[in-house]
Amino acid sequence: MVGGGICHTDLGVIAAPAEGQTPIVLGHEGSGVVREIGSEVGGLKPGDHVVLTYSSCGRCDNCTHSIPHHCRDFMGLNLTGARLDGTSPLCKDGTPVLGAWFGQSSWAHHSVVTEQNAIKVDHDLPLELLGPLGCGIQTGAGAVLNTLKPRPGSSIAIFGVGSVGLAALLAARVAGCEKIIAVDIQQSRLEQAAELGATHIVNSAEQEPVEAIRGITDGRGVHYTVDCIGLPPVVRSALESLQTPGTCATVGFQGIPNEVTIDHGQLLFGKTLIGVIEGDSVPSDFIPQMIELYRQGQFPFDKLIDTFDFEDINKAIDAAHHGTVVKAVLTFRR
Ligand SMILES: [Zn+2]
Ligand SMILES: [Zn+2]
Repeated sequence: MVGGGICHTDLGVIAAPAEGQTPIVLGHEGSGVVREIGSEVGGLKPGDHVVLTYSSCGRCDNCTHSIPHHCRDFMGLNLTGARLDGTSPLCKDGTPVLGAWFGQSSWAHHSVVTEQNAIKVDHDLPLELLGPLGCGIQTGAGAVLNTLKPRPGSSIAIFGVGSVGLAALLAARVAGCEKIIAVDIQQSRLEQAAELGATHIVNSAEQEPVEAIRGITDGRGVHYTVDCIGLPPVVRSALESLQTPGTCATVGFQGIPNEVTIDHGQLLFGKTLIGVIEGDSVPSDFIPQMIELYRQGQFPFDKLIDTFDFEDINKAIDAAHHGTVVKAVLTFRR
């Protein structure tokens, strides 16, 4: 492993592990170098640089129809920490340790992964920074570029501008959105959003966001919204900030179940509310696409990242937890 991002899904397990979810090695935004391959691996060889992403079976109907983020075994492959058969590639003193979190458990010097969730990248890229492309960055950017596909000149509001929301913002610029409105309660995040290209910022601790967005859009509302929070009032605001027709992509995760109340009349007149997992991304296509945009200077996701030595993992987790960094990435000495 060369780099490993810290994502809120990791923090959720640290805060409240489910029964049977420990001991576990977390981390699911790894990047590194292939050391060895199994006998049936065809597309990778030792020495290849790879970005690790979520795991998918590659065989079910959804995988074979190029929607691996809806793999029938997504939960089992990614969120239990074990392999599908319940085993793990790791143990300590003979006792199994869960080591297949998102098919990677990448807060570790070495990890056992499948060919499906290791995406080959060029050697000239800053490998230690690429891990978040496999989860957080692809979640935000994919919600815009894969799900919403905004028309050039359209308007978009992004609720919650942490790493996922800022990635969505960078993608909205790529798509050519004219009005890009960042909504958050943290002023420093809003200022960073403005630096990265938000045309308007709304501090929702001080202003009612739906009204503020109408004020910015001649009373109409925006064409698109992205909810990166998942709290019921935020999802509702993101839906009500739309004009008709309009689409809200919700990617914020607050655990399951999480009941949201919406006004049916909001949907009836042509509004769409769509849930998005992993940015509707086929990683083998979308990760290279994001890298190409990065090379062209259109997708500077590296500006969202602060690095920490792997030894300082607790400091990094603390910084991610308190939001003093947007995206913390652990780096390993080579
Ligand atoms: Zn599958
Ligand atoms: Zn994640």
